Amino acid sequence: MSNSKFPANSTLAVHGGEHWPKPHNAITTPISATATYSFRDTAELVSFMEGDIAREEYGRYGNPTVSALEAKLAALEGTERALAFASGMAAITTAIFALVKSGSHVVLFRDCYRRTRQFVTQTLDRFGVTHTLVDSGDMAGLAQAIRPETRLVISEAPTNPYLHVLDLDAMVAVTKQHRSVKTLIDATFATPVNLRPSDHGVDLIVHSATKYFGGHNDVLGGTVAGNTALISLVQEARDVLGGIMDPHAAYLIIRGLKTLGLRVAQQNRSALAIAHALEAHPKVRAVHYPGLASHGSHANASRQMRGFGGVVSFEIASDLAGTGRFIDALTIPRIGPSLGGVESLVEQPALMSFYNLTTEQREAVGIKDSLVRYAVGIEETDDLLVDLMRALESV
Ligand SMILES: *Cc1c(COP(=O)(O)O)cnc(C)c1O
Repeated sequence: MSNSKFPANSTLAVHGGEHWPKPHNAITTPISATATYSFRDTAELVSFMEGDIAREEYGRYGNPTVSALEAKLAALEGTERALAFASGMAAITTAIFALVKSGSHVVLFRDCYRRTRQFVTQTLDRFGVTHTLVDSGDMAGLAQAIRPETRLVISEAPTNPYLHVLDLDAMVAVTKQHRSVKTLIDATFATPVNLRPSDHGVDLIVHSATKYFGGHNDVLGGTVAGNTALISLVQEARDVLGGIMDPHAAYLIIRGLKTLGLRVAQQNRSALAIAHALEAHPKVRAVHYPGLASHGSHANASRQMRGFGGVVSFEIASDLAGTGRFIDALTIPRIGPSLGGVESLVEQPALMSFYNLTTEQREAVGIKDSLVRYAVGIEETDDLLVDLMRALESV
C-alpha cells in the first residue's frame, strides 16, 4: 500500500492530520458537542477580533472535531486545506456558489450526479450563471465551451452509472490555458485511495463523505479540498450558507476514514472479480467497469488509478421485470441507493432515479431498463460471486 504515486494509504488514513497530545491523552479525537465557545475575558476577545490569536468562536464557523477531520482529509487528498459539510450536496453547492457570480459561465460534463446537474442547470440558471454541457471525456468540446466568463469546469471521476474516467491531465492542460478557470472534480466513486485529483493539478476535489469516507451507511457528510486561497473562499461561503458538518458526524467519519484503505482494497478486489465473472456470463449483455479492458476508460483508469472502485454496472439479458426478478433473487446485497458502505447495495436505476420516465425517455438519457448498479460492500468476494451466479440462474 506504500506506493509513492498514491500516498493515500492506510498509514496516512490512520495517522494523517492527527494532533498530539489530545485532551485527556485520549488516542481518539473527542466529540466537542458545543454550539458556541466562551472567551476568558474581554482582552482575549479583543485579541481574537484583532486576529492575534486563532481559536474557535461559534459552531457555524468551526468545531475542533470537524477541524480534526479536515486536517485528515487534507493529508489524504494531498492539499493544503479541506472543509467538511453536512452532506455531499452541501459541499458541492457551497463550493460552486463560492466561485461564481451573476454573469459567470460553468462547464459541466454531461454524465454527472443528477443533483449537481440540477443545481447548475436549474438553480444557478435563476441567478444568471450560464452553463454548457459537454459529453463525457470530450476534450475538444471542453476547449470549445470555455469562454472569457467561464469560471469553473465540473466533472466526476469515475462517473455514475457507467464509470467513465476522465483524462485529468488532458482536462487540466485545457483549463490551465485560461487563468480564471478553476476545475472541480467530484471523486466520490474513486476515494483518495484510488485516485488523487490534486496530483493531476485539479483545483477543488469534492466528495460525498456519506459513501466511502463514512463507509458504514450511518452518516451523511461532504468534503471539499484544495489550496488555502480557494478553500478560504469556500469557507466564507460555508460561514454564510451554514452547511457545516455536525461534530458527531465528523467523529463517525474520522473513525470511518481510518479503515478506508482496507475497505477500498477489498471493494476493488471484489468488484474486479465480479466484473470479470459477469462479463463471461451468457445472461449478462454488457458490463461497465473501468477495470475491464473492454471499458472505454480502461486506459485512463489504468494510468491514473490504483484500483477501479467498488461499483459495477451491468445489463441483464432481460426486460424491466426480468431484471427486477434477478435483483429480488440476490440474497446478500440490500436494495437501496448509495454506495461505499460495508453492506453491498444493489439498484435498478430505471426503478430508482429514473422511475418517472418512460422506457423510451430512459433510453434517450442512456439508462436501459435492464441496467443494474451493484455497489460492493466488504463481504467475502466468493460469497458475493456465488450469490450473483445463483441469481442469474433465475433470469
Ligand atoms: C451521493 C453523491 C453525491 C451527493 O452526496 P450526499 O452526501 O448524498 O449529499 C454527490 N456526488 C456523488 C458522485 C454521489 O455519489
